[in-house]
Amino acid sequence: MNEPQKSSPSVDEWYKKIDELVTRPIQLMEVCGTHTVAISRFGLRSRLPKQLKLLSGPGCPVCVTPTSVIDALIALCRLPNITIATFGDMLRVPGSVSSLQEERATGKQILVTYSPLEALDFAKAHPEHIVVFAGVGFETTLPVLAATIIRAREQQLANFFVVMSGRLAPPAMMTLLESNDVRIDGFICPGHVSSVIGSKPYEPIASKYRVPCVITGFEAKDILEGVYLLVEQIEQQRASVEIQYKRAVPEAGNPQALAAMERVFRVCDAAWRGIGLMPNSGMELNDEFSAFDALKRFGITLPEANAMPTGCQCGEVMRGIKTPPECPLFGNGCTPARPVGPCMVSTEGSCAAYYRYGSGE
Ligand code: SF4
Ligand code: SF4
Repeated sequence: MNEPQKSSPSVDEWYKKIDELVTRPIQLMEVCGTHTVAISRFGLRSRLPKQLKLLSGPGCPVCVTPTSVIDALIALCRLPNITIATFGDMLRVPGSVSSLQEERATGKQILVTYSPLEALDFAKAHPEHIVVFAGVGFETTLPVLAATIIRAREQQLANFFVVMSGRLAPPAMMTLLESNDVRIDGFICPGHVSSVIGSKPYEPIASKYRVPCVITGFEAKDILEGVYLLVEQIEQQRASVEIQYKRAVPEAGNPQALAAMERVFRVCDAAWRGIGLMPNSGMELNDEFSAFDALKRFGITLPEANAMPTGCQCGEVMRGIKTPPECPLFGNGCTPARPVGPCMVSTEGSCAAYYRYGSGE
């Protein structure tokens, strides 16, 4: 006779298991914006033990795109015949003088796309337009962007360019640990990013910094199991990389996606909005594909501007130093309808998630 299959613990059972395990104050950071939204939506913070704090991290691509990149896109859209193609969330992010949405209201060509391939198709169908794609995103979106650029070259399209603002999660996590601004006892690592890069890039975080990492999915049970695995390691004074989200994350990641990125991009130092320059945390076009660089092609230099709007504390929020309600503007001058900073603009931003679902504390 077959053994009856053991069912996995329910949400309530995970809460109980975590409760029994925690013996001291623990701070975990969820790196990814989608996790922040899920944690807020499921109200996880309010049901976890008081000693266990979940901090938001810098994992929303819209939030971390520096003002200088928005300013460069605005400078480009003001040139004749240029159409900026971008994800919708980028429209309302403030640059230093304007936003893409304000530019669109004055008649500039701004196209909202769901993928770079859609922007490429538009370029192909409209050879009279020059299309510049806003290449923001993490390891999740960069492989598709790389594949799009390869295709543009194969199709010999002369009217498709990119402004690169690619970002890498693990180097940013390491820089946060170097900064000593905030105590992070463990990382809830993003499932999407990890399905591309696998588990290896997190290993130095565990081995060098002695901070455990668990890659989790986005359901309540996934996140709670991930929290449990992290607390278990912390209580046992271990630090390793574990994959909770095995159904989507192979240890080696996605070799095809990694190969596409490696072919088109190279690692560079990159500025993150509200945080500053982080070594080896960005991706730019390599020499072989530099002809697709819109800034070079149209002679635009990235302005230095990285200032935050007055009073906005997105930098502290994204480094886990403050929670959104600790910003004096939260809900009090800064709301999703009238956002002051990018963390309230983006659907994956911490401030927007806290505003929509409450802090749950
Ligand atoms: S790009 Fe991926 S890892 Fe980054 S915030 Fe979005 S879902 Fe999370
Ligand atoms: S509440 Fe608004 S102003 Fe404050 S940190 Fe968040 S986005 Fe910035």
